[in-house]
Amino acid sequence: PAGEGNEAAMAFDLGADDAVGPSVTAEELALRTRGLLRRKRRSDQNRARMQDGLRLAVLDPLTGLYNRRFAGPQLASVADRARAEGTSFAVMVMDLDRFKQVNDLYGHAAGDQVLVEVARRLGANLRESDVLARIGGEEFLAILPDSCMMKARRVAERLCQAIDDAPVRLHSGEELHVTMSIGVAVASGAGEADVVVEGLVEQADLALLESKGAGRNQVTYRMCA
Ligand code: GH3
Ligand code: MG
Ligand code: MG
Repeated sequence: PAGEGNEAAMAFDLGADDAVGPSVTAEELALRTRGLLRRKRRSDQNRARMQDGLRLAVLDPLTGLYNRRFAGPQLASVADRARAEGTSFAVMVMDLDRFKQVNDLYGHAAGDQVLVEVARRLGANLRESDVLARIGGEEFLAILPDSCMMKARRVAERLCQAIDDAPVRLHSGEELHVTMSIGVAVASGAGEADVVVEGLVEQADLALLESKGAGRNQVTYRMCA
């Protein structure tokens, strides 16, 4: 309405992208609207591009799991929280057994299908609050916050079973039985976070090696102070 002078300033202050007075013509209004729509489309595109970029930065494109880059800081923050709350947590390193043979016998594409199915089964057997990442070709890492040895043991056995129990069906219809070895390290919340994180993955790796050496398709445990 005429007579008042502050509406436009107020509108902009509230976050409006544009404002027109009462004397605006239809033509001006149409042009301004078109300009605003153009701007909105551009910012929608930018936002989508940015979200894609963020997603790609933390996800493994083959399996959709988190990648190694994302897992590191996650582990650090789980360790921090455990220390603050005085709880324990577990780290699992998992590696498919004799996976090179799968590629050699069935081809790389078949190997990829196995990796996708293994990732799916692992995810299905973990909690929402657990972090699951693909940290290497056929190597996965799980971080289980708030988990004591007993709980970690139950989960690790379940994961091992989930792979061993049923063959993976390939797109070709062929069925392929694979197994996985696991190394588990459980940390009590005490201690320096950096030390805990470094040493824990190392211990889980050593435990994994032990599982491999002992015949594969099994879980080995380490308790870390
Ligand atoms: P081990 O039981 O000792 O772990 O034997 P392995 O054959 O699984 O171990 P090795 O490390 O010798 O071989 C890992 C193989 O995983 C090598 C490579 O052919 C395969 N691989 C790694 N990344 C990928 C991938 O992204 N896709 C496929 N299809 N295969 C992969
Ligand atoms: Mg392997
Ligand atoms: Mg490996």
